[in-house]
Amino acid sequence: MQRIGAALDEFLEGNHGDPMLRHAEWSSALAGPLPAEGIGASEVIAELERIVIPNGARMSEPEFWGWITAGPSTVPTVASLAATVASPQRYTLTSFNHLEELSLDWLGELCSLAPHMKGVYSSGGSVANLVALGAARQWALEQVGIDPAAQGCGSREIALYTSNEAHHTILRSAGVLGIGRNNVRQIPTDDHQRLDVRALAATLAKDLSEGIVPIAVSATAGTTNTGAVDPLREAGELCREHGVWFHVDGAYGLPGILDERVRPLYDGLELADSVIVDPHKWLGAPVGIAATYVRDRSILHRAFTQEPAAYLEGSFGDPSDIRVSVDSMGIPYADFGVELSSPARGVVVWSILRELGRKGVAARVEHDNDLARHAASRARESDRLELLAEPTLSICCLRYRTEQIIDLDQFNATLFRRLVQETPYLPSSTVVDGKFGLRPCFINGRTSTGHVDGFLDAVVRIGDELAAQPH
Ligand SMILES: *Cc1c(COP(=O)(O)O)cnc(C)c1O
Repeated sequence: MQRIGAALDEFLEGNHGDPMLRHAEWSSALAGPLPAEGIGASEVIAELERIVIPNGARMSEPEFWGWITAGPSTVPTVASLAATVASPQRYTLTSFNHLEELSLDWLGELCSLAPHMKGVYSSGGSVANLVALGAARQWALEQVGIDPAAQGCGSREIALYTSNEAHHTILRSAGVLGIGRNNVRQIPTDDHQRLDVRALAATLAKDLSEGIVPIAVSATAGTTNTGAVDPLREAGELCREHGVWFHVDGAYGLPGILDERVRPLYDGLELADSVIVDPHKWLGAPVGIAATYVRDRSILHRAFTQEPAAYLEGSFGDPSDIRVSVDSMGIPYADFGVELSSPARGVVVWSILRELGRKGVAARVEHDNDLARHAASRARESDRLELLAEPTLSICCLRYRTEQIIDLDQFNATLFRRLVQETPYLPSSTVVDGKFGLRPCFINGRTSTGHVDGFLDAVVRIGDELAAQPH
């Protein structure tokens, strides 16, 4: 383990460049049939050190802003390793099962969730949304006399409401939960990419008048595309008025509430019946950790409880005589979501909050939001950059512009290809209000203002070069 630790430190320090450039080398070194005989532990570790780790992904590098996951920081990485070894599951009466609950409560408090909001971890925002909307489905159909966990969704028409900027995992959850992708009403957004609550109200009223059962309204606190925060109070109050489950997808943006400048945008969060957040996004945890919070975990229990299994129930000991850790499963998270076997994730979140505290996390969030504002102000000052959306959180969508180019979409698509191929900078591309542009999302603790300036300089330089070519 020490050898691998050293190799990983070296990976983080060295600039390895893009593994694609060495594709032939490592792919041939890794090629080969199923080994008949093993090479032994020491040789495998050597191959990890020599071939595998140095050709890993560039996501830890300070110029990677393409996805809302960057390389994890050190403390949660080692906490995750600690869990792998010292608590291969999250169950039984151990320090790890205890930290599962403690860290969920801390994380909820960090993000200003009401104390009655109780959580469960899962592997990521995709599953966290699925679990939250599973609770919504359970509750909403129970109101009309159907137990969907037992009976399926029944014959009533149902619908789910979200904006056209919502993450596609909302649609997928609707597909998986038997709500149906076609029954997701993708409500338009306003000119700041936020859910248009008036349009939502109109659609909801029409559906209600036709006897359609609303399963939930899903708002986003920090959209993946631009970082917009939907009007939570207006949407939440509309839900209250009609008795509709209110879900808030904060996979990326929930920790944004720690930045006092944008905190007012989260007004109304307390109206949520369910909320999700991904520690593997803004908190810098290794990928594989999200949390779902609901106002009443017994709803999750009704939606997701496992059938009794003789080998789980009381198989170790008599519950009235608990003396050893395996006498109980501890908090039965398996009944609150879709995973039975699961890594202990609480220790990872706990380690981040112990290391940084609320102030440290807030400083990180503010720093990242500053980077987006810095990029935006440079774009505003430059006659060759166009800001596509004013940053709300740590995303800044922009593109190159010049009067002489007619098709700026095509032009910026070419520019994006060259940027990614020729420079270390890796934003994603995107489309905002029909305009193609570049979308850096700053959540990487290693990124500084200098990197952002380097990126903008590179965009302008490549744009100028392309514009100077005959076209
Ligand atoms: C990233 C994201 C998701 C999906 O989360 P994963 O952890 O990638 O599964 C869902 N919703 C929003 C708003 C996101 O940004």
